[in-house]
Amino acid sequence: MRKPILLIATFVFAFSLSAQKAMLVIHGGAGTITRASMTAEAEAQYRAGLEEALHKGHAVLAKGGSSLDAVEAAIRVLEDNPLFNAGKGAVFTHEGRNELDASIMDGRTKGAGSVAGVTIIRNPITAARAVMEKSPHVMMVGRGAELFATKMGLEIVDPSYFWTERRWKSLQQELLKEQASANPDKKFGTVGAVAVDSKGNLAAGTSTGGMTNKQFGRVGDAPIIGAGTYAENESCAVSATGHGEYFIRWTVAHDIAALVKYRGMSVAEASNEVIHKKLAPVKGEGGVIVLDAKGNFAMTFNSEGMYRGWIGADGVARVEIYK
Ligand code: ASP
Repeated sequence: MRKPILLIATFVFAFSLSAQKAMLVIHGGAGTITRASMTAEAEAQYRAGLEEALHKGHAVLAKGGSSLDAVEAAIRVLEDNPLFNAGKGAVFTHEGRNELDASIMDGRTKGAGSVAGVTIIRNPITAARAVMEKSPHVMMVGRGAELFATKMGLEIVDPSYFWTERRWKSLQQELLKEQASANPDKKFGTVGAVAVDSKGNLAAGTSTGGMTNKQFGRVGDAPIIGAGTYAENESCAVSATGHGEYFIRWTVAHDIAALVKYRGMSVAEASNEVIHKKLAPVKGEGGVIVLDAKGNFAMTFNSEGMYRGWIGADGVARVEIYK
């Protein structure tokens, strides 16, 4: 009689331990986000959007699903929400088009996939995952990536799907500023997610429309493995947002993982080191979300704000916006 009870007790204990470990952290972009510049209504909409993504990802993890599935599910919600600069809400290039970038990485296998400069794929994060899982490559760009996504049966939309009035107005403002000064402010946004599942596997993903008024063909850090996205079980999962050119040159996501792996830093120490000590002095604006396999996480940024949130085993979505 004793044995089955002991077995059941061990099982329940092991299950609750593993369930405790599952964690999802997301961001919806960093930038000049201040209380003064936000109406109560807009803030409520951003919060609701982040919470929806957190719940969608958490539902995957709570069922014992993989961190990769959770990351993809959360990012798809943000891509479909016009408020965030990814998918539907992507910003415009100088010429008034939308060119989207995304990447995903599996911390268990170091498998990775990314797409850049795509214009007709509704959910670029899913295309990035298809590159990882269904092609022999890591990165595909432009028309080739679009043809591949079409062949893989992903949802294809007319480029006009990505037209939103708000982003169009931001482009017009940037164009006016550009005429007035040689150094226009850069406007960012991006969405990303990092997750650990009940097996202790990490994953990271990032998706973006890039920066408003970017040049035709410009690619940022989001689709670059080691810059905007990185995941390996032995160190951590990272998704970045900010001025992509700096995140590429400082290989931000991989640098954070390397500090965790080789210097034994915590995810908080490593992200402080890179975001505050390396990027801030050179005016590389932005932030990261970082998570390790034990569920420790950091949400670090040197901008005014960063849309961000997390959800753990208790299933309660927590969202923050300002410093
Ligand atoms: N990092 C993105 C890029 O440079 C933009 C952002 O995160 O806001 O394309």
